[in-house]
Amino acid sequence: MGDRITSVRLGHYAVPLAHAVSDAKVATGRQRPLTQIDVLTCEIGTDDGLTGLGFSYTTRAGCRAQFAHAKEIADNLLGEDPSDIGRLYERLLWAGASVGRSGAATQAIASADTALWDVKARRAGLPLAKLMGAHRDAVRVYNTSGGYLQAPIEEVKERAARSLAGGIGGIKIKVGQPDMKEDLRRLAAVREHIGEDTPLMVDANQQWDRPSALRFGRAVEELGLVWIEEPLDAYDAEGHAQLAAALDTPIATGEMLAGVPDLVRLIDLRAVGFLQPDVPRVGGVTPYLKVAALADHAHLQVAPHFVMEIHVHLAAAYPRDSWVEHIEWLSPLFEERLEIDGGRMRVPDRPGLGLTLSERRHEWLLDDARFGTAE
Ligand SMILES: [Mg+2]
Repeated sequence: MGDRITSVRLGHYAVPLAHAVSDAKVATGRQRPLTQIDVLTCEIGTDDGLTGLGFSYTTRAGCRAQFAHAKEIADNLLGEDPSDIGRLYERLLWAGASVGRSGAATQAIASADTALWDVKARRAGLPLAKLMGAHRDAVRVYNTSGGYLQAPIEEVKERAARSLAGGIGGIKIKVGQPDMKEDLRRLAAVREHIGEDTPLMVDANQQWDRPSALRFGRAVEELGLVWIEEPLDAYDAEGHAQLAAALDTPIATGEMLAGVPDLVRLIDLRAVGFLQPDVPRVGGVTPYLKVAALADHAHLQVAPHFVMEIHVHLAAAYPRDSWVEHIEWLSPLFEERLEIDGGRMRVPDRPGLGLTLSERRHEWLLDDARFGTAE
């Protein structure tokens, strides 16, 4: 018969970055440099002795809201069968129905939903990718964290070379500075440094208006970029569709969207070549799978945003071979390290997500809450 959830444990951690980083939103004064990642963890324990781990996160404000919401709804899980993920997702949604089905509310649910998927895969003794039906054991991986705007170009070039020497398969750099000519100079310098055959992407972090994005896209058409990411406001689906129709270089966006309908709109409008959903931001593995199924049906690439620890599994289980994003900011939270070689990140062969929380995490704990038999 079914197992039962006996404990739920939540944690809010503030994980510091080794260096503050800045993208176009900082260059134009909309945000301050990023110095830490806030993480909401959810550990679910069961009668059968299994423990699943899930997490959500924010850059800058919002994690306290996620934690508070998770704390309010967590006891709805106690006594329930952890394998009934679909039913439990709805139960958690209805518990907080008046705050809606996107944003901080569903991002709080994402931590529990991911933990339930982790339990399910651990019970099966399979990596999550295998439980879902993997297409491959390793996924193409590109580095983002070396290409931020605060870094002088020599440092960006050196970090790109180091990433490639370490087995990473592609390099992404940030663009969207007030002077577009400076973006083009940095991009040309990196292209020359890594060679014309190394996959290269750019990310404008929503910096441009439609004419500027088109001008940039035309200026770089000959560079053979894998994609141009977030050229426009994240919610300008029509603008992305116009750009995608006008340029040969594929458009990528979707990371900021915090609900399934917003991502589906990008698919419906043919606004992207690469869709970039994010499990924690979109509300968990369960809603991500809905988006991925529709993206597959539309013959799109899916290159999930950040959170490589979860996304390596989902990218391995997606029909088209795409990319995961190498950003090591969450690594200190976990004991394990992901293996990278030959341009690919290997799916861990451990059951579930293959993650355990590190001892070091206690240094960064801001708040915690326990339900049921959690000690
Ligand atoms: Mg991005």
